[in-house]
Amino acid sequence: MGEEVSLQMRSAAVDVVRRLRAAGFESYWVGGCVRDLLLGIEPLDYDVATSATPEQAAPLFESTREVGRAFGVLQVRCADSWIEVATFRSEGGYSDGRHPDSVHPADARTDVLRRDFTINALLMNPLDGQVLDYVGGRRDLEQRQLRAVGDPAQRFQEDALRLLRAVRFTCRFDLEIEPATRQALVAQAHRIRLVAAERARDELLAMLLGPRPRRALTLLLDSGLLDHIAPEVKRLRGCEQSPRHHPEGDVWEHTLQMLEHMQASVAQPDAALALGVLLHDVGKPDARQRVGDQWVFHGHEKRGQEIAETVMQRLRVPNKTQSAVQMLIGQHMRFISVREMRRSTLRRFILQEGFDRLLELHRLDALSSRGDLTTWEACRRELESVAQEEPPVRPLLSGDDLIERGYRAGPRLGVILRALVDAQLEGSVRDRERAIAWVREHFAPDPDEPPAGATPAA
Ligand code: ATP
Ligand code: MG
Repeated sequence: MGEEVSLQMRSAAVDVVRRLRAAGFESYWVGGCVRDLLLGIEPLDYDVATSATPEQAAPLFESTREVGRAFGVLQVRCADSWIEVATFRSEGGYSDGRHPDSVHPADARTDVLRRDFTINALLMNPLDGQVLDYVGGRRDLEQRQLRAVGDPAQRFQEDALRLLRAVRFTCRFDLEIEPATRQALVAQAHRIRLVAAERARDELLAMLLGPRPRRALTLLLDSGLLDHIAPEVKRLRGCEQSPRHHPEGDVWEHTLQMLEHMQASVAQPDAALALGVLLHDVGKPDARQRVGDQWVFHGHEKRGQEIAETVMQRLRVPNKTQSAVQMLIGQHMRFISVREMRRSTLRRFILQEGFDRLLELHRLDALSSRGDLTTWEACRRELESVAQEEPPVRPLLSGDDLIERGYRAGPRLGVILRALVDAQLEGSVRDRERAIAWVREHFAPDPDEPPAGATPAA
């Protein structure tokens, strides 16, 4: 986000609080934006908590929309985005392990007590910079602790998504999980199954694409969460490989290193690349065989594709992303033979859709094993030479165009079209109309077909 946009957003968010207060309501910035400001990070969005109901708040602003009447949430327009204005509320009963059964109007203190972690439960009055801290969130921020608000066991029990949020925030801000919170997290890891697959997927992707993917996967493994969201990935741990090809260690370590390289060196990794990295070798544990003193993994791409399908279906990964990931897994071993490929094969390989991502995956794969980038470089060179070549000139007319004009199908058509391309290259023919005239000038149409039924000359 541009600096100007975020300043504009911030002043709009100050204005929202100012107007609510001028109308006699209590109001604060709350949650993520306060946390980010205290950490010196520019907030991506602002949430406002207030004593006003949406009905009371809406008339104070030019443009609003209601997003959750039941929850008392109103959005106020600010340039291209929306500032969320939510009435203080308490929540009661979480019989599905994910959503409150009911919500009730409340005061500021009660409102923050329903929030997940202390660092996300701070209030700030932007008019004077005062922070209102009912939960010890400031101290936890300073000490870099992730701590549940109130009783951690109860908080995870209420809403199982908090299990993954705990890991995500811990990694994002490089925190330690406070011991009681951690204990509850481990004890309830299995409850992550109550969460809609899409939500779990989004949390997982945010972790893979976030600043500390190694830490995220390690925490997911250690907490037991990985057993419930992607046990297939857990099997990479302890899947030994031959040091000659993989001095870095087992498949798990190799995969973690790739995620770290992705974080450090890919400008804008997408979900497909992240999942491709996570799953590219997921077939190795099943395909592993001992040959002499080496481990070999014949066909692990194929097996990997099958396993990846199971994982991605479970996580409801969109079809388009799934196909992109399948392409990465299925083709990641083709780089081995790049140097033996005929030029035409190589060209087809590098010019296929999605190759940029595949080449990026290969680079990460190489960096996280022997560090040999020669194949990567060869592909880059070939791509460059393709880019520098004149675009192939296609004839302005097709064979069908000629047949319609009385030329007979057969090898002569090829001769005519090649001559036409030469004329185009010389610049004497620039459009279709001219092309038709040029062909007529240089090549007489074929004589009429003998009439049907006529006896061929003996
Ligand atoms: P981000 O920068 O990722 O948006 P955020 O803290 O704003 O971080 P949101 O998911 O946007 O996170 O939620 C806004 C606030 O709502 C949180 O700061 C937290 O106070 C509260 N919250 C969100 N989800 C939950 C949840 N599942 N349980 C309890 N409180 C939650
Ligand atoms: Mg937010």
